[in-house]
This record gives sequence, structure tokens and C-alpha cells, in this order.
Amino acid sequence: ETSARVAAADADTGGPTIYDKIIAKEIPSTIVYEDDKVLAFRDINPQAPVHVLVIPKSRDGLTQLGKAEKRHGEILGELLYAAKIVAEKEGIVDGFRVVINSGPTACQSVYHLHLHVLGGRQMAWPPG
Ligand code: ADP
Repeated sequence: ETSARVAAADADTGGPTIYDKIIAKEIPSTIVYEDDKVLAFRDINPQAPVHVLVIPKSRDGLTQLGKAEKRHGEILGELLYAAKIVAEKEGIVDGFRVVINSGPTACQSVYHLHLHVLGGRQMAWPPG
């Protein structure tokens, strides 16, 4: 019952998310990298010494990776490459992790595709 409640609360409605306000700079964030298509900013609840979120500025249907279509290939590549740029800028390019939680079962809570770039400590495997 608890997990059903969490899943309901975290449903992918396609509505606006908090990241829209971050992109619009209506709420503050610490930006690590930005270009015309991609924004990278520090996670407000970091799970590692470096924890940066990389998002497309235009969601364009990409509420979650599980909704990706062939036409999203270019932006998906841009996001992954931006994750590497972030790792370089943060000094963790020799060892870092990129995570995408897709859907309630994976504990996605914000339905605007985002890559978690994590590093600065030894990572464990498997992830929880
Ligand atoms: P989870 O919440 O389970 O990590 P997600 O993969 O959807 O699921 O991650 C959403 C991330 O967005 C979380 O790590 C959360 O800390 C982060 N976040 C939420 N609001 C903000 C904010 N205003 N600024 C920065 N990060 C945020």
C-alpha cells in the first residue's frame, strides 16, 4: 500500500515541474554548466560530494527516459556529453557515475528527464 501511494504521488502527468522554474531562473540554483540546449546545476539534496543534475532546457516530451522516441536521440547524446563536461569541470572525470531514474519503480520524482552526475567518493555496486 505504501509503494502504491508513492507511485500515485509520483505519477508522470506531463505537467510543469520545478525544473521549469530553475530553467527560467525563477528559483535559484547553482549552475555548473549551461549551453543553448542543456542546463546542469547542483542537486539540492546531494548524495555524494559532487551531485549535479543535467537536464534538457526543452523537455519536448521527455518526462522520463522511458518515454524517449527516436527523434530524441540528438538531445540524449547532448545530455550524456554534457555529463562528461560536468565531470571534467568538477574534477571527477577519472571516476564518476551517471544515473537516470525512469518511472516510479526507479524512484523518479521529477518528471523532466535528468541525469544525475555523482562522484567525489567511492561508489558501491549494485545501487539501491
Ligand atoms: P529522486 O528524488 O528519487 O532522486 P529523481 O531521479 O527524479 O528522483 O531526482 C530528482 C532530483 O531533483 C532529486 O535528487 C532532488 O534532490 C532534486 N531536486 C529537487 N528539487 C530541486 C531543486 N530545487 N534544486 C536542485 N535539485 C532539486
